Amino acid sequence: MQATLEAIIAQNRALTAQGRVATYIPELAMSDADAIGICLIDGEGKTYLAGDTDIRFTLQSVSKVFALMLALEDQGFDGVFDRIGMEPTGDAFNSIVKLETFSSLRPLNPMINAGAIATTALIKGNSVAERFERLYSYIKAIAGNERIRFNERVYKSEKATGDRNRAIGYFLRDVGAIDGDVEEVLDLYFRQCSIETDVVGLATLARRLALGPDAEPQLSPEVLRIARTFMYTCGMYNATGEFAVKVGIPAKSGVSGAIMATAPRQQMGIGVIAPALDEKGNSIAGVQVLADLSRRLHLSIF
Ligand code: GLN
Repeated sequence: MQATLEAIIAQNRALTAQGRVATYIPELAMSDADAIGICLIDGEGKTYLAGDTDIRFTLQSVSKVFALMLALEDQGFDGVFDRIGMEPTGDAFNSIVKLETFSSLRPLNPMINAGAIATTALIKGNSVAERFERLYSYIKAIAGNERIRFNERVYKSEKATGDRNRAIGYFLRDVGAIDGDVEEVLDLYFRQCSIETDVVGLATLARRLALGPDAEPQLSPEVLRIARTFMYTCGMYNATGEFAVKVGIPAKSGVSGAIMATAPRQQMGIGVIAPALDEKGNSIAGVQVLADLSRRLHLSIF
């Protein structure tokens, strides 16, 4: 396994030069465009590392999976899906267009920004601080405390520049998809995106999602099932279909260049970081690493 991972990282390192790091969040522009690293935790819980594994990065959209899980715990199935749809999107992750043209006036799904902002709005608590603390603790409980931190600089950077998300938030309230104080919901959303980890933390999160209810008694089987399903159908934004064909496992990417991938058949968790992105906002080398790994290890769920 170690040799396989090293070979796949070496093979794909040059691909990083074909992508670009996200710059619309100014702090992310400082990421190392050449970096590429992976952590894989196998079915027995053995951890393998290859490439640049000492870098830390923010979860960004990977956090959407956990916000959804906590919202489902808080509000139940109907409480979430009365307000947020279940359909994949053919548009960019931060697109606003379907909010007005899609007849139900609900965001399409919880894995894109509009749906995630509406999901985050459903997390219970008496203040932003309390709501964030609940989500932060939930993620820490899944990944292990020591792997999870908070990146104040990324949070402030996105909060200062997040006008598109602000536009989405106010639009969502106008059409009744969220209630309450939009700035508070956005603050919570920017905070969740700024939770920081490393590839070991990311692979740990991924593996916990891969385990069944017997091995994972703290997480409700129904919530786990729904999270994995959304990762499979919507986790890579408008490149999810292609990812399903080429890789074939539930995954969620973030604009930091992180991809959290879960192989349920093998009970395996994989965390990849390579900050240079393709034009859809997915890690350009990270996707290829997972495609090669999936072929080599027969990970695809079909
Ligand atoms: N914080 C980012 C945003 O809202 C998350 C998007 C992403 O990772 N695709 O734009």
